[in-house]
Amino acid sequence: ASRFDVEKVRADFPILHQKINGQPLVYLDNGATTQKPQCVIDALVHFYSCDNSNVHRGAHTLSDRATEKFEAARQRVADFIGSPSARQVIWTRGTTESINLVAASWGRSQLQAGDRILVSQLEHHSNIVPWQLIAAEKGAQVEPIPLTSAGQVDLAAFAQMLDARVKMVSVAQVSNALGTINPVQEMITLAHQVGAKVMLDGAQAISHGLTQVQALGCDFYAFSGHKLFGPTGIGVLWGKAELLEAMPPWMGGGEMIESVSFAGTTFNQIPFKFEAGTPNIADAIGLAAAIEYLQSLDSEALQAHEQDLLAYAQARAAECAGMRVIGTAAEKVSVLSFTLEGVNPADLGMLLDQQGIAVRTGSHCAQPVMEFLGLAEGTVRASFSFYNTREEIDRLFAAIEKAREFLL
Ligand code: PMP
Repeated sequence: ASRFDVEKVRADFPILHQKINGQPLVYLDNGATTQKPQCVIDALVHFYSCDNSNVHRGAHTLSDRATEKFEAARQRVADFIGSPSARQVIWTRGTTESINLVAASWGRSQLQAGDRILVSQLEHHSNIVPWQLIAAEKGAQVEPIPLTSAGQVDLAAFAQMLDARVKMVSVAQVSNALGTINPVQEMITLAHQVGAKVMLDGAQAISHGLTQVQALGCDFYAFSGHKLFGPTGIGVLWGKAELLEAMPPWMGGGEMIESVSFAGTTFNQIPFKFEAGTPNIADAIGLAAAIEYLQSLDSEALQAHEQDLLAYAQARAAECAGMRVIGTAAEKVSVLSFTLEGVNPADLGMLLDQQGIAVRTGSHCAQPVMEFLGLAEGTVRASFSFYNTREEIDRLFAAIEKAREFLL
């Protein structure tokens, strides 16, 4: 019951139209990665067929063309996330590399012994481990921010933790394991009051219309192209210009230098200072095609459709015997993370796959939140995107009943 023409958008995604184990595919693993519309696939083929060349060399027409498209892609990302300039958009391989870049460059130059880094209890491992590595090197501490029972950062507990030794707060805008949205706006305000910087892990937020970096007021923002209907191997680190300018380079090589001499090397300006070596040109252009595609859709209707899917799935879950939804906050993206009484999540995932339904099971690369929730075997996560339908959710619940008969 929405204005969103889901059948029309489904036609744009070739992968959705196939059978898996004899059943039409129901793809509900969008939290792990999203599918690619034909225009993204076409952009990659076109680049390699017609424009392939190295960038920023300026020696010939193809190189100029590749450079122009590569830099236009950066500008499209900047506009999409509300960045005041394209030079604050640094290409990386993805969220993981973006966080590692900040931990290594900002962290190595700014952190001292006794400093505190706060991350939440619900973080993906990629927003825990890079901080642990730099903290060990610097004699700093990484401390978890507690959660509420609804699966969000506990703001009151967070406020209590803040003091002048907290130098970095790095937190997911949206939990990958639960789909809950953290109160990041309030967290940023509180963290800035004690002089801490705030990095947002936007891996799960980016596809749900939640990313406006300047309005949010964060200091750094990370996301992956493959979770935004773009290719794998391309992602973004966004940062405040003054912070990026003051940070030392992370990797050294071509592109990132101004001049190289054995008497001393000087470095290029941002963003190039952080882009050593030949960049992932084709996939940056592919990501821009994905954003262009998204911008061609009615974003309000799209959001309403996703929220309708969530509400429908939650209503079905409430009627499903033994099902417990994990992450009950009202502020949530279209993710249903659940357990089923007496059923191992991995077993259920396998039986769903046999019926053509793709979900994720286990700890979702977020072991500390599973420990916090006392869920040793993790959950089953059905994560929806705008190309999913109510009928697919019906298929999920029918398949769960079949699996239950088999298992119990
Ligand atoms: N953070 C969160 C919240 C995620 O969901 C993911 C991907 N599952 C990552 C970080 C890591 O992203 P990538 O593997 O694309 O670097």
